[in-house]
Amino acid sequence: MAGANSVRLAVLPGDGIGTEVTEATLAVLEPLAQRHGLGITVETLPAGAFHYRETGEAFPESSFRAARAADAILLGAMGWPGIRYADGTEIAPQLDLRFRLGLYAGVRPVRAIPGVPVALADPRARDIDLVLIRESTEGLFHSRGKGLVTEELAEETLRITRATTEKLARFAFRLAERRAAQRGRPGRVTLVDKANVFRAFAFMRGVFDGVAKAFPDIASGHHYVDAMALDLIRRPWDFDVLPTENMFGDILSDLGAGLVGGMGFSPSADIGDAHAVFQPAHGTAPDIAGKGIANPTATLLSAAMMLDWLAARGAGQAYADAATELEAAVDAAFGEGLRTADIGGRDGTAAVARAVADRIGG
Ligand code: ATP
Repeated sequence: MAGANSVRLAVLPGDGIGTEVTEATLAVLEPLAQRHGLGITVETLPAGAFHYRETGEAFPESSFRAARAADAILLGAMGWPGIRYADGTEIAPQLDLRFRLGLYAGVRPVRAIPGVPVALADPRARDIDLVLIRESTEGLFHSRGKGLVTEELAEETLRITRATTEKLARFAFRLAERRAAQRGRPGRVTLVDKANVFRAFAFMRGVFDGVAKAFPDIASGHHYVDAMALDLIRRPWDFDVLPTENMFGDILSDLGAGLVGGMGFSPSADIGDAHAVFQPAHGTAPDIAGKGIANPTATLLSAAMMLDWLAARGAGQAYADAATELEAAVDAAFGEGLRTADIGGRDGTAAVARAVADRIGG
């Protein structure tokens, strides 16, 4: 940390609605920081598809170094149809960050926000409050860009390591402890795997069970990924913390977003031992970019996760209080009638920022 109560924040707005939701979030962070006495210094860094088109570089090394040196990284969204690397692949500096900074824990909360329509008719759907933890450095994505392709076959290899699984499991149990304390109820961690078919997942389960022994106060269990897809529709309110392999987490987190209002309401954090990137789960949404109607809620909630993470890393209780207040302000704004375009309303990006900022300190 830069000093007591003061942190350096690297902001990578990126492309499309990434820049709009980032601007809205910074507009809310300012009064929040003032109210809680947080010393946040913001450094905005260039990266993304448009930067690539202008300069030939998607993620300048100077931006990477500045982001790595910061206490936390807030990212909008990156990528654009029609702007690609010479080999045809997508521009995704956010993936580079995950691998280069070792951000193994992809934290994807799935929580029903008061007033925001949920997909399921069952009244218990309003109680949905779970967190998927997508392992983000190995699993099936380990072979990203390295798969074997011949005329006759294509082959990609899944990798599960003991070291990363142990870290992922410890992260999951610690998060469950924190959530149990905050919510005043027991915590539960359920590993999502496919241990009935693949040896890699039986291995993952064994490592997970070993870590679980060190957390006797948190219940632990396992669920096969196919059964979890079913149960996330049938009874999502029964789950708490769900660590899983990279590809499974990629798929299940979009399913989770669909349960609670869509991508505009789905925050995420990619956390490692020393660094973390906070960003909405959605992309750059070219269809609505520049229209002022993007929903910034996912980014606001990601910023709340960031403040909480900074508090846990020693930035001070004021950061935890600010995180709680930001989340409560989002809940209050939607609970009292705020409606964005993605849920059939008329409130634009700036209106959300104003509504949330107005509820800070109230
Ligand atoms: P990526 O492949 O990087 O995830 P994408 O453009 O294919 O990006 P998203 O941007 O995640 O997909 O979202 C798909 C669609 O959902 C968008 O085109 C947009 O219509 C809608 N959407 C996503 N995020 C938001 C948001 N914050 N507010 C409003 N609508 C959104």
